[in-house]
Amino acid sequence: MPNTLFDALFAPLRHRDSPFLILPDGATISGADFLAMVARQAHALRAAGLEPGDRIAVQIAKSPQALAVYGAAVALGAIFLPLNTAYTAEEVGYFLGNATPKIFLCDSAKLAALAPVAAVHGAQVMTLDADGTGSLTTAAAGLPATITPVDRGPDDLAAFLYTSGTTGRSKGAMLTHGNLLSNAEVLADLWRFTAEDVLLHALPIFHTHGLFVASNISLLTGGAMIFLPGFDAATVLRMMPRATAMMGVPTFYTRLLDSAAFTRDLTAHMRLFVSGSAPLLAETHLAFEARCGHRILERYGMTETNMNTSNPYDGDRRAGTVGFPLPGVELRIMADGQEVAPGAVGVIEVRGPNVFKGYWQMPEKTREELRADGWFITGDLGCVDADGYVQIVGRQKDLVISGGFNVYPKEVELLLDAVPGVLETAVIGVPHPDFGEAVFAVLVPKPGATLEAEACLAQLHDRLARYKQPKAAAILPDLPRNTMGKVRKNLLREQFKGWFAV
Ligand code: ATP
Ligand code: MG
Repeated sequence: MPNTLFDALFAPLRHRDSPFLILPDGATISGADFLAMVARQAHALRAAGLEPGDRIAVQIAKSPQALAVYGAAVALGAIFLPLNTAYTAEEVGYFLGNATPKIFLCDSAKLAALAPVAAVHGAQVMTLDADGTGSLTTAAAGLPATITPVDRGPDDLAAFLYTSGTTGRSKGAMLTHGNLLSNAEVLADLWRFTAEDVLLHALPIFHTHGLFVASNISLLTGGAMIFLPGFDAATVLRMMPRATAMMGVPTFYTRLLDSAAFTRDLTAHMRLFVSGSAPLLAETHLAFEARCGHRILERYGMTETNMNTSNPYDGDRRAGTVGFPLPGVELRIMADGQEVAPGAVGVIEVRGPNVFKGYWQMPEKTREELRADGWFITGDLGCVDADGYVQIVGRQKDLVISGGFNVYPKEVELLLDAVPGVLETAVIGVPHPDFGEAVFAVLVPKPGATLEAEACLAQLHDRLARYKQPKAAAILPDLPRNTMGKVRKNLLREQFKGWFAV
């Protein structure tokens, strides 16, 4: 039996002497050299005791060697478990306790803090640093540059990817070889990726977007990646003339727009800009097109399913929507146990080869969210318009029900965001003696601006039904965000729960 992911993504690199990774200093690593790195690491990890089905957790800086660990884990039939580099020792302790990996790989600078945490959970620690050195690299030196991968079929587990923890505790989504490959195949086709493509890769590789969506597509199609350690506008702009495509989160695009150096000329060779992971404001979409002539292609995905929808490559990329369900992926909008009428808002459910196998060590949560017939209840609220475009209106947990009426925070936030002096906003529901829940706004002023809460809210009076208007607002210097940059509304709800003194 072959190894599904290794055969499709890594094995073809064997024949490739041309650059696979292009680094910020212009240095390149060929496909064959990268594959040799994967093989040597795999031998070193096997020697350290990593067996098929074992878990390997990593909290390491993005580098070619860090990406190679993903390939090494796949080759060994182990389960790859990347962790956000921003997590503290205490947070890492939660993940190691939940996943009980055999091996834990960290930066040597964090070894003193993390080794005791790993020891508590019985994980053996190895190091790998941003410059490619560390105990793993030392152990791998001189080992064979080829490897015969362990047999793994489409239903075997390849990775546990933890959700971002925006709505609560992070959950480990169990993803199979088949989950990951099906998505990469569909996207490569949909977005027309070929061996000629050079993908500007500035996303982290501990998250579904940068690791699976971006890297897997390039690996599958034989393209190259400009592999940057993170998003830095100056470096991205310097490298852009060598690229053909970029995948990013909305803040990448706002930061490019903030830079006067970002001009149409730099994008002459670019054929595709993709955005996902968080809502892209229609304003950013339009400003981007005005600046460089490219329409950003917005798509929708999540840890549990990789990707669900995409705007069309050739057709109309519609701002404010996430496009159509991917080929092979079913999507429906549900309310009260039934599919809603076209255009109505409900909870988005998806089913398809991309849907994960459940949350590791969380059988109840799995039963609640993953139906026996394969439909996954995403927890996102959305609707499908008359042309079939999917629109996300927010998260179910963020819906405010005030006096029995549903209020979608995004609708209110969009109007408040446009008030002069307002940088950003978060609209939440807080307990209220008359309404059950009242709409409440948190406003962040632009640098140097002074806001007056009542005056800001007054601007909505003629524009929103009364029940949607915030009953009060507070001004904060910034919004609490998790490490993926997503607003933690549960913290705001906790902070302001006593505002109306129920
Ligand atoms: P947790 O599940 O732990 O609360 P999370 O849902 O933020 O965290 P991720 O899997 O990283 O963790 O994020 C997926 C979510 O991101 C989606 O469910 C959706 O709410 C949001 N999202 C992704 N893409 C888009 C998009 N294009 N527009 C709006 N929201 C998006
Ligand atoms: Mg989620």
